[in-house]
Amino acid sequence: MSIKSVINDINQTLPQGTRLVAVSKYHPASSIEEAYEAGQRIFAESHVQELQQKEPILPKDIEWHFIGHLQTNKVKYIAPYVSLIHAVDSLRLMEEINKQAARFDRTIRVLLQLHVAQEETKFGFSPEEAEAFLQEGVWKTLTNIQIAGIMCMASNVDNEAQIASEFERAHQFYLMAKERYFADDPAFCECSMGMSDDYLIAIQHGSTLVRVGSKIFGQRVY
Ligand SMILES: *Cc1c(COP(=O)(O)O)cnc(C)c1O
Repeated sequence: MSIKSVINDINQTLPQGTRLVAVSKYHPASSIEEAYEAGQRIFAESHVQELQQKEPILPKDIEWHFIGHLQTNKVKYIAPYVSLIHAVDSLRLMEEINKQAARFDRTIRVLLQLHVAQEETKFGFSPEEAEAFLQEGVWKTLTNIQIAGIMCMASNVDNEAQIASEFERAHQFYLMAKERYFADDPAFCECSMGMSDDYLIAIQHGSTLVRVGSKIFGQRVY
């Protein structure tokens, strides 16, 4: 199937209010252009250097998201144009994003990365840690970032019930955080959940951003 027809098919399955993020990492600019011609405007990359190469040669109205683990010393390279940073899991990273956003006179939207999968990883807040972080409140002093919601990855397993319960846990955290910390802030509105193999489950549990790569662009060649 062509990139265009896959994008159209995915968009038809998404509920209102859920948007498709096309994950273009390891795929060439020509594939991004093909998706762009099909009307796709949100693209995501997970390596700063790769994003740095693609951004200048592609249309300016692309909304670039960063979905990988972001090192603080690389924030400055993407700060002029990045529209949403999905995987933020420390105050230190948030402070750096805030500082670089201020340099470019911008506000950068970020998502709290929640660790809800059973797999071991050093990335992401547990829901308890994320709650403690919000409770502590230092983030409120960072005026050049906007915490816009949460992101998570489910376990890489075939067990759909397990995947569903992980997405549900993240969604419940989102609802709690919205009520307790962002009740007056309509910009806190995103649940970034779901990839090629599990986005259909994620949309049943409140996903507003599905991050789909290989289903659109084919297998990645690393
Ligand atoms: C690569 C990646 C995706 C896309 O994965 P696919 O299985 O190719 O759809 C989504 N989210 C994150 C964080 C990724 O790194």
